[in-house]
Amino acid sequence: MIQWCKSCVLPNTRPNIVIDRNGICNACNFHRKIKNKINWSRRENEFKTLCKNIKKKNKSNYDCIVPVSGGKDSFWQIKKCIEFNLIPLAVTWRTPVRTEIGDRNLKALIKLGVDHIEWQINPVHEKEMLYKFFCKYGSTAILMHNAIHSIPLKIANKFGIKYIFWGENSAEEYGFSNKKNLGKKMSKSWIKEYGNIFPNNKLFEKKDLKKNLSYNSFNKKNNSKSIFMGYFFNWDPKITYKSAKKSGFKSLISGPKTGIYNFADIDDDFISIHHWLKWYKFGFTRIFDNLSIEIRNRRMTRERAIKIISKSNPNPPINDIKKFCKYINISKKEFFNIVEKFRNKKIWKKSKSSWYIKNFIIKNYHW
Ligand SMILES: [Zn+2]
Repeated sequence: MIQWCKSCVLPNTRPNIVIDRNGICNACNFHRKIKNKINWSRRENEFKTLCKNIKKKNKSNYDCIVPVSGGKDSFWQIKKCIEFNLIPLAVTWRTPVRTEIGDRNLKALIKLGVDHIEWQINPVHEKEMLYKFFCKYGSTAILMHNAIHSIPLKIANKFGIKYIFWGENSAEEYGFSNKKNLGKKMSKSWIKEYGNIFPNNKLFEKKDLKKNLSYNSFNKKNNSKSIFMGYFFNWDPKITYKSAKKSGFKSLISGPKTGIYNFADIDDDFISIHHWLKWYKFGFTRIFDNLSIEIRNRRMTRERAIKIISKSNPNPPINDIKKFCKYINISKKEFFNIVEKFRNKKIWKKSKSSWYIKNFIIKNYHW
């Protein structure tokens, strides 16, 4: 049966969330017992030492790669590198559906003063793969995750760049099953657990896609180190947003695209579908993720978060779904038929009039 953390609003159906005997999830426990006690100035000094060592040993034109989308965290990562005198090479996987605001923000980011490489996948292959991954895994983001994890490694190897600086360690922010994946290093085991890459090589049927995007087929020759910047500096979406805003990052005036933040998940039109599909698979949506971060950072009470959830509606992001259907050339009906296959029957039950989740976080929810 689905179980909810007594401190935040996440359920144990979320991959890697484990709830302990006291009813508290591992992400909340990590915040309470470890993250809130970190001496950040000591960590900053550790970063300074790392930067000095990178500079001393570096033989490439660039000190590090920073994978960027143009989001608030990209600004934060690039700004930190520049602040500590590193010369970063910014690398972007070009989403087929970048939003207008995402495009504008990415341009503003590059203007901070960095070289930038944008990698676009053959659109014919990309469409085909998106469709296949959607049918097989009920996700619109697997190709994206493969691209995000493999392209920076590929470029790092080409240019002989030894370090790749990522944002936060999601194992620390959203739960973990293995303690060895906490901390600063993005290891192979981290990728396997949290990369969302489903490295089924058979699905990468096109030879060039297999070479470029299948993380497994590429990673064998990897010579670079992947490091989380969130280990050295306190990652908090509101902190990274504040930093990005000062440097020209714009949020959505019309309100959040998904979840509760109008400054997150705004660069791409298919990411909202990825987050919404969690409702079918795990019984929660992006709002639950965002509210849990607010609770852990002591800006919101659990009671208030539950009130927000009770007033919200997990409606499908219909405009983005229409774009997705047009892109992969299926009808809306076909889309919802495929989605229905991924409804998790361990948590979803059917009454006469509608589907509902037994033991939902809110009693008498408006199903
Ligand atoms: Zn929790």
